[in-house]
Amino acid sequence: MFQLPNEPLAARAGSAVVLLSFLALPASVQAQACGCTDIADIKKRMKEADVAIKSYAEEMQKIAEQMQRQRTVLLADREKRAKMQSRIQHALDQNAGGLPTAPTAGDNPGGTDNLCNTTINLAPSATACMRESLSRHEAFHRQECLRTRSMAKIGESIATGKDRFERDGTTLVAYATEEIGGYTAEKAFLQGELSRLQQAPECRPKPIETRDYTGQARDRAPSSNRQNPVDSLRRKFGF
Ligand SMILES: [Zn+2]
Repeated sequence: MFQLPNEPLAARAGSAVVLLSFLALPASVQAQACGCTDIADIKKRMKEADVAIKSYAEEMQKIAEQMQRQRTVLLADREKRAKMQSRIQHALDQNAGGLPTAPTAGDNPGGTDNLCNTTINLAPSATACMRESLSRHEAFHRQECLRTRSMAKIGESIATGKDRFERDGTTLVAYATEEIGGYTAEKAFLQGELSRLQQAPECRPKPIETRDYTGQARDRAPSSNRQNPVDSLRRKFGF
């Protein structure tokens, strides 16, 4: 949350400095995507990321075994990717889910095109927090995509209709590794937000308000309700 500087400082320095200090703030302070109400979603998405990472790691193990058996390299063509993605989605459906991060029109919720531009196709109901998490995932893909981008390669993609994985002869193992990187980037963001929100005073559960009918009486006659050790002695000895 953005807070104005202390009153005397603002008065002395004027609005220019206030504006400058606002611009100097890191992006995470200027606009925080996640709030107290997102804590449940954050935990769910972290679980989804864990399931996805574990599933991709298992896929990589199977691919490695298959490559050794068949003495061949498995490339990340569309068909193999689609099959792997459906197995990952199945694992997510079984072990996680329930978040509006699910793909909208049978498509990936996020995607990176041949120019390495990313898109987020989440349902309109998706929260800013979940959108930010997915954008961290896609930013990782973008960073990986930019490593191989060149005018020649873009031209090749346009001419052949191949996406970057097919065009670059990316192996299925490398493709899975990149997905793990995307989910790991999400987890880093989500863990940071969770820690921040769990420490934020505004996110602590409010104490349950109970009506204390005894309070008023006690305030009026404080001594009457209080256990005073002298009182019992007085009663006992009659003074
Ligand atoms: Zn991804």
